[in-house]
Formats: sequence, C-alpha cells, structure tokens
Amino acid sequence: MCGIVGYIGKREASPILLEGLKRLEYRGYDSAGVAVLADGALKLKKYKGRVTDLARNLNTASLSGSLGISHTRWATHGAVTEANAHPHVSHDGKISLVHNGVIENYLAVKKFLESTGVEFYSETDSEVFCNLIAYHYKKEAEDSPTRFLDSVRRSLRHIDGTYGIAVISTDCPDELVGARKGSPLIVGIGKDEYLLASDVSAIISRTSNVVYLNDGEIVSLKDGELNLLTNDEEILTPEIKQIDWDIAESELGDYEHFMLKEIFEQSGALENAMRGRFSDDKSSAKFGGLNVSAQELRQIDRILLCACGTAWHACLVGEYLIERYARIPVEVEYASEFRYRNAPLDKNTLVIVISQSGETIDTLAALRESKRKGYKTLAINNSVGSTIARESDGGIYQHAGPEIGVASTKAFTSQLHILSMLALYLGRLRDMSFQEGREYVEALKKAPALVTETVKLSGKILEISKKYKDMEDCLFLGRQDMFPIALEGALKLKEISYIHAEGYPAAEMKHGPIALINEKCPVIVIAAQPDIHAKLLSNIQEVKARGAPVIAVTNESNPLPENLVDDQILIPDCHRALLPVIASIPMQLLSYHIANLRGCDVDKPRNLAKSVTVE
Ligand code: GLU
Repeated sequence: MCGIVGYIGKREASPILLEGLKRLEYRGYDSAGVAVLADGALKLKKYKGRVTDLARNLNTASLSGSLGISHTRWATHGAVTEANAHPHVSHDGKISLVHNGVIENYLAVKKFLESTGVEFYSETDSEVFCNLIAYHYKKEAEDSPTRFLDSVRRSLRHIDGTYGIAVISTDCPDELVGARKGSPLIVGIGKDEYLLASDVSAIISRTSNVVYLNDGEIVSLKDGELNLLTNDEEILTPEIKQIDWDIAESELGDYEHFMLKEIFEQSGALENAMRGRFSDDKSSAKFGGLNVSAQELRQIDRILLCACGTAWHACLVGEYLIERYARIPVEVEYASEFRYRNAPLDKNTLVIVISQSGETIDTLAALRESKRKGYKTLAINNSVGSTIARESDGGIYQHAGPEIGVASTKAFTSQLHILSMLALYLGRLRDMSFQEGREYVEALKKAPALVTETVKLSGKILEISKKYKDMEDCLFLGRQDMFPIALEGALKLKEISYIHAEGYPAAEMKHGPIALINEKCPVIVIAAQPDIHAKLLSNIQEVKARGAPVIAVTNESNPLPENLVDDQILIPDCHRALLPVIASIPMQLLSYHIANLRGCDVDKPRNLAKSVTVE
C-alpha cells in the first residue's frame, strides 16, 4: 500500500516522479503529492485525489529541480485531506519525507516533539517521523558530511512500526536518503540517476537495474554514489539485480480496464506457470526453486497454507487439491491470525505462504514467525525479488506478469494452477500412479485453451449482469472446492461493485443465511461437479422455493433444467483439478461487468489498494 518514488539525477525530477506515481497508483489513491528541491528551496504540491488530478493541477515548470520525492497515499492515520497528504515537511522547513507504513509509537514521539516546541499541521504518524528527523538533524555536528544521513539513522532507533521512506533536506541539495523496515523499498540505478521506489513498476521505464533494500537497511544516494548501510552503520555492498519485466505488460493497451485485460491474460499466465515445470516422463511436475528434496517432502506430515484475502481463497482450494491428490493433511490460516495465535504445529509441518506481491506484511510476518519456529517455508508469489521470495527457504514464482487491477484475477488463477501442479508433484511422491500422473499432466496442459474458451463467455455474462446490476445483496454458493470459489466470487463482487455479497457452502445455507433469501437476493450457484450434481440441485430447489433468482454456473455437458434456474452460465468440461480455475472466470466476469455497469471505478475500488504493506 502507498507508493513512493524518489529521484536524484541530472534531469527534471517532477515529470519522472509523476510518471512513477501513475504506475504505482494501484498501491493507494487517496491523495498524492510531490516535493522538489532546487537551489536550497523546497517546492511542494499535494492534492486530495488521484495522481492524474495532481498532474493536472501541477505546473512542472514551477517545480523545477533534479531532486525530489513523491507519494500516493493509502491513509492509515488521519482522514483523506490535503494536509494529511505526503510529502510532509518538518516544522523548521528543512526536512521533507514520504512514508509507507505505520509508526506505532507516534503519539509518544509527537508528545515529546511538542514539548520541544514543534507544531504539527496534519494528523499523520508520518509528519511525526519527519519532525523527529529534523530534531536529530539539529543536534548533529553542523560540519559533519554525513549529518543528514546520521539524523535519519538516529531517528530510526526511536521509531516502532513499519516504514519505507524517502527523505530530502533543504541543506543537502544533492542527497536522497531511503530506509526500510517492513515496507518495501528499492533503488533503481539509471544512467546518471537513481530512483527510490516502493516497487519496480515505478522505475521500469528508466532502468532494469535495481537494489532491493532489506529490513534495517538505509541508503544514501549522493554525488552519483550509492551507499548502503545497516541502521548500525555497517557498510554493505549493494547487490544489483536485473528485472526482466516488459514495460508493455503494465500498460492498458486496447482494454478499458486493467481488470478486464488481466482476465483475458489468464491463458498466458497459466502457460507461464507451467513452462518447464513438467518431469521428462510427463507424469509429474517439477519446480526449480523449492530447495526441499523429495526425501524431505516425503517426511512432511502436514502442510500449513497461509495467506490473506484472495490468496487465502487460493489456499482453501489448495487444501482440497493437496488432500485429494497427495493425501497430505492441510490446514489453512489467515496470515494475520497465524502470527498472533501461536498455533502448535506438528514438527513435520511444511509452511507455504502465498502472496501475489510478495510484500503482504501479514503474510511476511507469518513467514518470519514460521521460520523463527524452525519450520521449512515455501512461498508462491508473483514478484521476483520480493521480500517474501527472498526470505522463504524456497518457492515457486507465478510468472503471471504484472497485475495492476486492485481486484486480483490472473494472479489468483495462476496460484490455483500452481497449487494443482504442487498437488500433482506431492501426489507422485506418495500414492499417485504413473498413469494417473500422465493423465493429470495432460489435463493441466489443456488449461490455457479452456481458459481462452471460457473468457468468450464475457458477452453472455454482460447480458446477465444487466439484469442483476441493481441488486443490493446476493449469495454465492458452492460445495467442496467450489466453496472457496464462491467465497472469491462474493469477495470480487463486494470489492469492486460495493454490493453486499456472501459466499457459503451450499448445504450450510439452511443453517442460517437462508433467512436472507427472497426475490431481491439473487443466488449464484456453482454446480459444476458431476459427482454431487443431485445434491446441488436440491440446494437450488431450496433457493427457488423462497423466490430468489438463481444464476447457475454448470458444465456444458450437464445443463440444469431451464425451469429451475433464471440464468445459466455453461463452462467447458474439464479435469477436476482444473475446475477451480475454470469456474473462477465467470465469477470474475460477473463482478467486472456489474461493477462497470454501476459506474464503479473497477481498477481502483474505494478504500482498497494493492500490495497490503500495513498490518
Ligand atoms: N501512515 C501514513 C499515513 O497515514 C502512511 C500510509 C501509507 O502507507 O500510505 O499517511
């Protein structure tokens, strides 16, 4: 959450900062701001609203200078106002800072600073941080060449919480300082220039060479040099990594929204998830970066799948897949709960965390907690070089390409596909036969073509959406691994159309939610499993008997009786291991079209942001 971009170099900073902010806007879009330093003077522009509004209201010529910082905010402390927008400036006007994260002891620090005469102009924790740096700056020796850097470093010792920061000082017109703990920060190394950013999307148009900061590291970019050190002043050698992103992947192209583009990109994302990942005899999967041997995996008695939000739904599907095909007991935990509940895990437990961005702070904390307790950890994530990827013992990259729409689509189905491949791999290490493995691999390979076929339902789903766009409540029902898909369908609809939606196991409905059902509460039933078709038909009858409209998602080869459903979406028949992916697509299209018809901002839903880096 929240996007940070900083620039120091020979070019005009503000157009570069604005371009970076536009690419980072999915991380937060409450307000935006830019501060540029030129001739010892700080020029600042903040705007309550989107980056495009800021850009429209900003005269880049009046913000001339080649050192600057910028921010797009996802508010945690203080309302969405211009005063609370970043960059913040210290009371004495010397320090300006942008911050991603939460300062937990900000009230105590604020009280102390107030006692020294500092006045505050915003309600944020970040302004307190900024003034703390100014306080230490005043105390450092005036002639010290590292005065500014030292004042940032000293301040960090008094800060509890999480931060990714970029800081400038009017006294140091040639220095940009960054630091991180808990919130991501990278340095982009360009030609005669450096950038600081919360993620690579902000800088890929300028450079593909980056240095990922680790927690507890601080960087000074000054006089064309990059100095990296720990908060304890240990000097580090920066490790420069190459990013292999294609900038076109993060552009909208001919699509109206990133979400729609990403729905249509799913076939390619699944192709990438499978590339080079089948054994030579085509009876199993193989993964390059697991760093856990087959022998070690055979010792595993239990798997814990841990994630937040949509990725947590992927974990629930993973539970069904791994238990069904590998016969290993699986537990699923919300990462945010796991870290605080001190769960007793069996000693032969493998912990697998899932996060699209690889920066989700609750998931990162769960990973760290598992490692602290000595469990083997794996991560499934979509961002090469992310913190979670770096800190886990091993893992599987999704290679789904950048996902910009805040509501996850292709990253979710790619996680599902990787989980089915993992179930296959683990299954083949246990009881799955060679022949079953071959059939499974053959089925997985069909996924891209089946997805291409399924997204063609978009037109039909648009027509259905027109009928239901004004609903205010709805239920999603499914059984077995279609239950998590129902949960995900409900979440997607809530997130982007603001319609109240609940996902339930179809048979649980009669234990409570059936009380909500009436003609104004449409029910979406995923009834695509031939083995339990009759049971699902009964659940649909129960809904119909109470007057609710029913939209059914079912297989082409097994349509439901016309009189039982109001609308029917027929998905292609597929292997059971692929069904979660295929059945997700109508959910995505339904929520996309309904949100769009309601005039909602599909890619930037209210109150949400991508890459949740605050607790
Ligand atoms: N806590 C800060 C604020 O509320 C930063 C939030 C963010 O990460 O955008 O302004």
